[in-house]
Amino acid sequence: MAIQLMKRGVGVTLLDRGKNHSSAVASGMVNPMVFRRMNLSWRVDEMLPYARDFYLELEDTLKAKFYDTLRIRRFFSSEQERGYWEKKQHEVEYQKYLTLHDDFDEKVPLAKNEFGSGIVKKAFWIRSKRFMEKMHLFLKEQKVLQYGQFEPAKFILEELSYDGSIYDSIVFCCGSDNDKIPYFNQANIQHNRGQILHIESSELSQHELWNRKGFILPVGEEKFMLGATYEWNEPSLNITAQAREKLEEVFQTITEASYEVHGQTVGMRPTVADRRPVMGEHPEHRGLFIFNGLGTKGYMLAPLLSLEMAQYMTEGIALHKEVAFSRFYK
Ligand SMILES: Cc1cc2nc3c(=O)[nH]c(=O)nc-3n(C[C@H](O)[C@H](O)[C@H](O)COP(=O)(O)OP(=O)(O)OC[C@H]3O[C@@H](n4cnc5c(N)ncnc54)[C@H](O)[C@@H]3O)c2cc1C
Repeated sequence: MAIQLMKRGVGVTLLDRGKNHSSAVASGMVNPMVFRRMNLSWRVDEMLPYARDFYLELEDTLKAKFYDTLRIRRFFSSEQERGYWEKKQHEVEYQKYLTLHDDFDEKVPLAKNEFGSGIVKKAFWIRSKRFMEKMHLFLKEQKVLQYGQFEPAKFILEELSYDGSIYDSIVFCCGSDNDKIPYFNQANIQHNRGQILHIESSELSQHELWNRKGFILPVGEEKFMLGATYEWNEPSLNITAQAREKLEEVFQTITEASYEVHGQTVGMRPTVADRRPVMGEHPEHRGLFIFNGLGTKGYMLAPLLSLEMAQYMTEGIALHKEVAFSRFYK
């Protein structure tokens, strides 16, 4: 959001608490498919290419590498799922994302492959921790980023001033902590906790992500992320033994390879009941905006949605109706 506004010549001040529990923890995958429903991701034809170009341009700006292409192999869970893929791979809108398979029973060493597997094209992933560190460094150098908690006592709503400085607009992008901000509670951003195991194995493919009930993402040097859990309304940010057990079960559903666990991380996805982001201006307080609800797909959605948000704020171009905050009030 800050980058998009800065590109349009808008002066930006970012206030961040300095502790991130989603963007910096995420596995950072951009997958055109939603496997649970065997559907394409929302607005994928617009979102995915824009996001790719956005991150590649940012690599130049930040002088850092965090973008990698990703080959995703989905192991089917049933004959029915394999049937869906077989049908969809011939449909025009799916053809760019699903590899045509004549032989779904391709042997994959050490994988549990009883219903076959398919390959997703055009996916990529962002090394989220590195991306966030480099972003912070850049925004600090640009004198845009300040660290601190938003304190309502320092905020005068009538004049849009915070800590003595007056602003034209204030955008709340607080992720799952939206409920601690008094203005946009109608959106009811829910806490969807996610945990990831960090593992090492010399037996797994380092060239493709394996997915079935969860994923094993190769991150280099025989290291992998094994994820992720979806735990609803668990507000604490503690790692748990139950999540580790669940993720190890996922691993065993996918492969017989041996591995060692080296760590476990936890984060919170800011999720909305209708699975669409939330953007827009407050109906009563002009100049107050929200940009939130990126859910499980922030890395794919944020680049184009932040452009649309910047266009809405600076040129009055209407937001996509499915994301509008106005859907929460009459
Ligand atoms: C385990 C896990 C795996 C994931 N994997 C993927 C994936 O593979 N692909 C994908 O696209 N997405 C993934 N996600 C989801 C993705 O992380 C989110 O969609 C996205 O990062 C949300 O971004 P955000 O900026 O809205 O929220 P956040 O990243 O949470 O950022 C909100 C920021 O606001 C600050 N803040 C909040 N309240 C205040 C306050 N009062 N004062 C000052 N600062 C405040 C916080 O410090 C934080 O930095 C994953 C998430 C998790 C937890």
